Amino acid sequence: MPPFLRNLLAPFRGGWLNRIDRDPWQTDMNPLLSMELTSDHWCAEAIREVLPGGREMPVRRFGVIHFTAGATARSSIGFWRTPEAKGAGAHVVIDRDGTIYQCRPFDRTAGHAGVSKWHDGRKSYEGLNSCAIGIELANAGNSYPALKRFSELPPLLARHKHGGPLREWEAFPEAQYHACEALCRALVARYHLDNVIGHDDIAPQRKSDPGPAFPMGRLRLACGFPEAIS
Ligand SMILES: [Zn+2]
Repeated sequence: MPPFLRNLLAPFRGGWLNRIDRDPWQTDMNPLLSMELTSDHWCAEAIREVLPGGREMPVRRFGVIHFTAGATARSSIGFWRTPEAKGAGAHVVIDRDGTIYQCRPFDRTAGHAGVSKWHDGRKSYEGLNSCAIGIELANAGNSYPALKRFSELPPLLARHKHGGPLREWEAFPEAQYHACEALCRALVARYHLDNVIGHDDIAPQRKSDPGPAFPMGRLRLACGFPEAIS
């Protein structure tokens, strides 16, 4: 939309016009594509829901994508605040509408990876909590009844790349994907991450997230990495 028309329609912003403004293909109008990270390692566009704790994480090597297997982003954060969570949590959780919540700065660890390992062709890593930024996406995965209750999209019927039966997986809305992509691009640029990978890549025996409904290859390409996990 040309700027003069946008100015003319400015009083009507908020409804359909707001959605046009957020068209992801019009890069000059999409604030998500210019996501800013502050000098103290917070995402400027995120809502802060601080979870104290973690250890210093001076070097960040990877972004790890997860799904929450649950309801809303806030409900996951609420659970992370309880003793039952036993220290589990992530740096960021992104809601289905693309709202980003940040719980911990990117220079401290968060308990998102658990027992995990990764070999990048040069070096092996174990226990990726010490060097990875955890990004959770509010998504039911293949967990009923959350899938039926919280998703407005038809589920994807697919088999996980690590095997198992055909299952229904909650689809990821475009707004949520775009927020994730914009954040990952900003993190890769700022911290020179070596890769963006899935929890199911670093803990294949235990974990199925983000699973077949998440376009990991699309995200990796957008971040400047090869589409396929090698
Ligand atoms: Zn996970």
